Amino acid sequence: MEFSFCSRINALILLLALCSPCRFIQSPMDFGPLNFLQSTPSASIDFGRIFFNSPSAVLRPQSPKEISQLLSFLSSSSFSKVTVAARGAGHSIHGQAQAHDGIVIEMDSLPPSIKIHRKRDDEPGFSYADVSGGVLWVELLEESLKEGLAPRSWTDYLYMSIGGTLSNAGISGQTFKYGPQINNVFQLDVVTGRGELVTCSSLQRPDLFYSVLGGLGQLGVITSARILLQDAPHKVKWVRAFYDDFEIFTKDQELLVSMDSKVDYVEGFMVLNEQSLHASSVAFPSYMGFIEQLHAHSSDAYYCIEFAVHYELEKESNAEQVVEEIAKQLSFMPSFIYSEEVSYFDFLNRVRMEELNLRSKGLWDVPHPWLNMFVPKSGIDQYRDLLLENISPSTFDGHILIYPILRDKWYSNTSAVLPESGEENVIYVVSMLLSANPTTCSTECLTRLLHQNRRIVETATGPEIGAKQYLPHHSQERQWREHFGGKWEGFLARKSEFDPLHILAPGQGIFQRKY
Ligand code: FAD
Repeated sequence: MEFSFCSRINALILLLALCSPCRFIQSPMDFGPLNFLQSTPSASIDFGRIFFNSPSAVLRPQSPKEISQLLSFLSSSSFSKVTVAARGAGHSIHGQAQAHDGIVIEMDSLPPSIKIHRKRDDEPGFSYADVSGGVLWVELLEESLKEGLAPRSWTDYLYMSIGGTLSNAGISGQTFKYGPQINNVFQLDVVTGRGELVTCSSLQRPDLFYSVLGGLGQLGVITSARILLQDAPHKVKWVRAFYDDFEIFTKDQELLVSMDSKVDYVEGFMVLNEQSLHASSVAFPSYMGFIEQLHAHSSDAYYCIEFAVHYELEKESNAEQVVEEIAKQLSFMPSFIYSEEVSYFDFLNRVRMEELNLRSKGLWDVPHPWLNMFVPKSGIDQYRDLLLENISPSTFDGHILIYPILRDKWYSNTSAVLPESGEENVIYVVSMLLSANPTTCSTECLTRLLHQNRRIVETATGPEIGAKQYLPHHSQERQWREHFGGKWEGFLARKSEFDPLHILAPGQGIFQRKY
């Protein structure tokens, strides 16, 4: 009998729930009913608010074994074209955690386990945390700080899941020093697209380990990760210095990332209008008048370097001194330097303040046509010009981050993709974080912004600039092939090995489900 797609899903749920007739269950004794829901409000929504693909069912697993049972079943039957997407915190922009007519696995339903292991003095290695895949980075931070420890590589915003950022890379102002989050993981528990539950690391099943890191959810579902921890500083000296010259701005950023024994964090952003400063942080409120002064000058854009130095517990006074020494070597506009002293938690959690601020104005849950690029140093001037040609600086409603990272801090064998051209060590992260407030930006306006992003991507990924998208969004296989470049064949091989029927993460739009 032919099932309609929906009834196939229902049949699947029924089969899974009844379980004993299913040949894929090794031991029916171990199997509890899977917790399927028809849908949940979040399963078809993400931060981007551009794509709204509804699944046919949502699984809220209570254990990794349930995920394994579902994927074993789907991959061992020619049952249907059902696809499965793990959903972490849903902070994707283009529906990457959605599964149109498929099954969304809500990772936050896994028991939120965080186990901290502090290294003893006589023990080799590092302190670490074993964390389940649906836990948020902010939860890991809170828990590890209780032991005086913390992960060392971060994202700017902490309300995203461990599995979600490890499926991309996880970057921020610490990346120049410690590499992305995917370089700071010792071990993963993964359920492959075949339903196998595998523990992998650089020594055990390294092929799976490295390909899952930055693997856009294509090869397996991360159910647990062992994350490297280090002693946490208790305070941070957070500095902002302003520039009216792009070349001097980037030169100083590159100087800062070369001082990795002193500097703990480096980012930066473009100042295009008053909104750029409002959107950038609520921790520097007294400088809002400053932008008007700047606009009396003739430049079309200004730039702000943000760097930070940690206060180590035993060297209380040192951070101020270090900042002073560093500032002497920088060429910011005379006297345009400001600093704040904040707790380590508040520093890492700084975007939360902006989130609450935007939420209070109803400006958080709006469409976000964001564009993130990795730009080689040789192309950064051209890329800046390209951005300024495409946007309208005076009315730009968002934030443009620009900061350098270093290629040699990235493992080359993960699935994450960096620009290939020239193999230069310095690569710039350029994130155009746009909001499309529906009261001022209609559907046509949003479409225009998305086209604008597409045009920028087409030019920037060409041979002259040689950039790559971070958190990529492509609709054609040719574009994915180009995106992965030299990594494509290896990625295809891993996909055939670990998810041969292309069940996982359909929202990335890389592969079509096979029967
Ligand atoms: P989701 O959106 O839920 O999922 C993303 C992808 O990963 C999907 O394909 C999904 O199927 C897959 N996935 C999710 N969980 C798992 C799992 N357990 N196992 C396997 N695959 C899984 N990124 C940075 O690097 N640095 C930043 O500073 C940064 N800041 C951000 C700030 C904001 C406000 C937002 C909205 C995003 C930001 N991002 C940043 C992007 C963010 O890292 C990614 O969007 C990330 O995927 C979000 O994690 P998530 O848990 O929300 O993932």
